[in-house]
Amino acid sequence: MKPRYIRVALPVPMRQLFDYSIKEEQPMPVVGARVKVPFGNRQLVGFVVACDVTPEVAAAKLKSVREVLDTNPLWPASLWELLLWAGRYYHHPLGEVLSHAAPALLRKGQPPRYETTTRYQLTALGREQVLSELKRAPQQQRFMAALQRGPMHQAGVKEADIPAATVKTLIEKGWVETEQLRLHEASWQCDQANDALRLNEEQATAVAAMRGPLERGEPKVWLLDGVTGSGKTEVYLQAMETVLFRGQQVMVLVPEIGLTPQTVARFQRRFDVPIVSLHSGLTDSERLQSWLQARDGGAAIIIGTRSAIFTPCKQLGLMILDEEHDSSFKQQDGFRYNARDLAVKRAHQEGFGVILGSATPSLESLANARAGRYQRLELNQRAGEAQLAKHAVIDLKQQRIHQGLSDQLLATMAKHLEAGNQVLLFLNRRGYASALLCHECGWVSECHRCQANMTLHQQAHLLQCHHCGGQRRIPHQCGACGSTQIISQGLGTEQLEEALAKHFPEYKSLRIDRDSTRKKGQLEKALQAAANGEYSLLIGTQMLAKGHHFPHVTLVSLLDVDGALYSSDFRAPERLAQLYLQVAGRAGREHKAGTVVLQTHHPEHPLIQELVNNGYRDFAVAALEERQQALLPPFAAMALLRAEAVSQQAAEAVLQAMANYLNHHPDVTVIGPMPAPLAKRAGRYRLQLLLHAEQRAPLHAWLQQLLPTLEKLPETRHARWSLDIDPQDF
Ligand code: ADP
Ligand code: ZN
Ligand code: ZN
Repeated sequence: MKPRYIRVALPVPMRQLFDYSIKEEQPMPVVGARVKVPFGNRQLVGFVVACDVTPEVAAAKLKSVREVLDTNPLWPASLWELLLWAGRYYHHPLGEVLSHAAPALLRKGQPPRYETTTRYQLTALGREQVLSELKRAPQQQRFMAALQRGPMHQAGVKEADIPAATVKTLIEKGWVETEQLRLHEASWQCDQANDALRLNEEQATAVAAMRGPLERGEPKVWLLDGVTGSGKTEVYLQAMETVLFRGQQVMVLVPEIGLTPQTVARFQRRFDVPIVSLHSGLTDSERLQSWLQARDGGAAIIIGTRSAIFTPCKQLGLMILDEEHDSSFKQQDGFRYNARDLAVKRAHQEGFGVILGSATPSLESLANARAGRYQRLELNQRAGEAQLAKHAVIDLKQQRIHQGLSDQLLATMAKHLEAGNQVLLFLNRRGYASALLCHECGWVSECHRCQANMTLHQQAHLLQCHHCGGQRRIPHQCGACGSTQIISQGLGTEQLEEALAKHFPEYKSLRIDRDSTRKKGQLEKALQAAANGEYSLLIGTQMLAKGHHFPHVTLVSLLDVDGALYSSDFRAPERLAQLYLQVAGRAGREHKAGTVVLQTHHPEHPLIQELVNNGYRDFAVAALEERQQALLPPFAAMALLRAEAVSQQAAEAVLQAMANYLNHHPDVTVIGPMPAPLAKRAGRYRLQLLLHAEQRAPLHAWLQQLLPTLEKLPETRHARWSLDIDPQDF
């Protein structure tokens, strides 16, 4: 028999594909199947990209496939096409793209197999119980109530956070029974939506606009541009209804932080259908089970973070990206894709609708809407009874300041607290102080490995670098002159907590940041306590800005955002505007009117004036105008080459060598090499080279043409380098 060969993509940082021979007794694999192959002295799991190929190197040199792992392709054809496209668009090695897209267990070569699960349901006796009699056992009551709506799987019980002891008790009482079954046998049908709200006019218009195209499976993209509290979720739910009633699936992508059991619970209350989630909190095996259920149609709703975009779905009818402007949809290392852009691409490949929802849409999406590629649907009113918040600025130049809090702010806070309301203070700096400083010689507590200061963490009793994780003991003397006059600089959340205890000793405060929520479940608990009004004062970093609903907060203040006003990053104004509106959106969410107060040293700054007086919409119009004038994205294309090495010269040399090649295209401008925003991190120097073109096509064609040469440059041996297409932060 004639020898047979296949071409394989391997998870290695090389753009090249690899050929292997198939042994006579082995079956010829299909494209999209996994194979185990020898590579150097290792064994790797690779993906078959072509069969029956004519090898590119002498056939005698080729090794043979160790094992064919799949009889079927891992992804359906349309998703496979998307993955190939993504590899080309982001100029990323295909093997890394594919292995990034596969669940961890499949990446490791395990079979895509279902596990058995337990199904819980009420017994005849259980159905007879009156739930109000369980008032003293709230967990039992909750579980029973959930089961009254229908049987639940193990995963659902876990998502709903039902304690194991509760389950055990109810089984012992004979009210609940279990059954073992294989997950994929689960099928679902949806013909009922519980407790749907009566839509207001704007919501109804939005839902009506979506219904027809959703029923026809058109790949339409809607930009749902709705101020905070305008009821975007209700629009999502009613759009989902259209799709679920037709037996099609819905995928919901959320920023990392918003993915809480509450989100899942909200969907579960509305629809009695199987819901799976895909996020970093799951074990590898749970993730695979969710993935399989999405692929085979057992899951009706799939909720996940960024990487869920690669999950195959049997019959997807709708994809929703909530907080579409959020930068967490962009992967920042390795395979640097943008899940929002891939969602739109995937919609065209598979034929489903996409809702991009936000109170502060990205300028990219607004430009797409303006160009007619997306349909913009506006919600300008707050749903229900909430009013839009009042905005005010405090000029810090005119004020006495006590640990970051101005006299005027303290007085305003006192008024809101005395009225029995909650106050939320936003400060995006965790720790006690951003640095230690010698009062005599000016020495600063720098990290030895990064171009950054070490943050003082009073509670943990150490200095910590937020970039490399490095730690040091708190010095009692200056590292340079020996003076004992060491002072701290730059207010952090820990210190703010201390200040509040001094100013408002009679009110309880709660700090929510990465340090206070490190343990599993802590964040959910803190958010719940905040929402219940157990604390009068809430202190939060970025984590608290997004999507959370605190009904008793009437005053929100941003203490220190001035750093963003004079940043060199052209996206800084957009980021600040989004942050400002997101934080402001936490004020006055229910019956009480809200107030937003911004402290600044630059009250006259045009961006601040725009935000406070006119809001995000006007800001966005002006910002798009500026971007167009300056030929910046979304009115131009960019790519960023980054390099890092233990010596500055090595990092610079590789980018300079690349620049020498890249410099010769009439439509592509090369800027740099120049230091990256954090010029040194964890002992490595970081530089970047920016590529700019008015049109995307010539830039991509140029990269395509040159990358095979660039990646073989001798300088690349002494530095790590990467390419970022449509970069976000630089
Ligand atoms: P957004 O996500 O746009 O910030 P939410 O979806 O969280 O807003 O809705 C804000 C509040 O308004 C929620 O408490 C929600 O239940 C309520 N709400 C939404 N739509 C309606 C409606 N049509 N009628 C009454 N209340 C509504
Ligand atoms: Zn000193
Ligand atoms: Zn460091």
